[in-house]
Amino acid sequence: MSIMSQPTLLDMPTMRRSPRRVGSTYFIRTFGCQMNDHDSERIAGLLDTDGMTRVDRAEDADLVVLNTCTIRDNADQKLYGYLGLLKSTKESRPGMRIAVGGCAAQKDKDLVRERADWVDVVFGTHNTHRVLDLLDHVDEWGPVTEVWEQTTNHDDIPSHLPVQRESDHSAWVTITIGCNNGCTFCIVPIVRGREISRRPGDIIGEVEGLAEQGVVEITLLGQNVNSYGRDLDLNGRKPLFADLLRRVGSIDAIRRIRYTSPHPKDIKEDVVYAMAETTSVADQLHLPLQSGSDRILAAMHRGYTAERFLAKLAMARGIIPGLSVSTDVIVGFPGETEEDFERTLAVMAEARFDNAFMFQFSPRPGTPAAEMSDQVDHVVVKERFDRLVEQQNRITFEHNQAAVGKRAEVLVEGPSRRDPSVATTRTGGNRIVHVAGTFRPGSFLDVRITRAAPHYLEGVLV
Ligand code: SF4
Repeated sequence: MSIMSQPTLLDMPTMRRSPRRVGSTYFIRTFGCQMNDHDSERIAGLLDTDGMTRVDRAEDADLVVLNTCTIRDNADQKLYGYLGLLKSTKESRPGMRIAVGGCAAQKDKDLVRERADWVDVVFGTHNTHRVLDLLDHVDEWGPVTEVWEQTTNHDDIPSHLPVQRESDHSAWVTITIGCNNGCTFCIVPIVRGREISRRPGDIIGEVEGLAEQGVVEITLLGQNVNSYGRDLDLNGRKPLFADLLRRVGSIDAIRRIRYTSPHPKDIKEDVVYAMAETTSVADQLHLPLQSGSDRILAAMHRGYTAERFLAKLAMARGIIPGLSVSTDVIVGFPGETEEDFERTLAVMAEARFDNAFMFQFSPRPGTPAAEMSDQVDHVVVKERFDRLVEQQNRITFEHNQAAVGKRAEVLVEGPSRRDPSVATTRTGGNRIVHVAGTFRPGSFLDVRITRAAPHYLEGVLV
């Protein structure tokens, strides 16, 4: 069966009276971003309510769910490589089911079927809440593909679903899905659709519920949080992201609030003042630059110039001294010349970001940038990328060194993977600090920074 359009409510028996898969096991592998991580938490929550138990290895699972990404070419390669491995696992484990959801399935549902006909369920980004019904369909009728084109109804945002969170003390909360921008390199508008905002009351209700469960840190998620609320009408008024930040900040038990991502063309003073005046909002901003060349920014359809970006950055740092700022940069966008790239190096040097997520351009089929004729040779892209990484690593290390001797409030994430006698913690500015000792995950510590490494800090309890 294959469905592309949105079924009617009568077709959506998503709420069960009793669990049907008690005693069986599932494994979820997530590719991609925080949005996908959070969708996987919702899928896990649904499977748990159906009586299933999560396991750590696909080999031990009755159901394997792959929540896919399509933001870069190697994400597709990873998916099909992994599906190849799963084929033999499935052959040796009769009755095992494989479900593929997320962005790659949303965009290329037929391709998933074509390249991996051993997959039982293909579902998209708009109907994750249907996963149990689709599994029932497989039991009765065989393989199923159901991908909805677009969610247009605020009630379709699956905020009511049970969630099996990865962390007891930290949680993601979706505030918008989709994106109305048209960045020419980005597949998100195609796979996540037009932007829809959740109502403020639903968001606040979810955060209050999380606080009651012991969550102390939340991250508000949206592709462009600054356009939050533009599609809502609350008695003739559109809610603003700045107001939402303040309302979430008024929930006492939530001691740290982050959000991602703002858009440089849309972020305004009201949001930065809301950050500055709401104690629990972390002094951290992720502001994606993408390129320092105005010519490339225009080709990317980003809606700002480098000068405008730097002015927004100065505005934010002026209102919040000590603000920690990270960014995203793409190297080798089609048509990027050496001169364009040197503009990126120069803007990055001027901005002195605390941290940067740097990517080599990879064309995504379906996006305008993939069709551009002046693709940059990958050897050139790699050489530029290495230069940018070297510069940014130096700047990040200098920021880390400047933190030595200072005090910071850190949130304990848990024991370090490398050395369990050391705790991994995180500052409000999103720096990792290793602290000797054993501490309860979710507790806050007051530490003094004693040593800087290129990508982390060390500290002692004050
Ligand atoms: S703002 Fe641009 S990069 Fe971000 S999700 Fe929307 S289209 Fe993609």
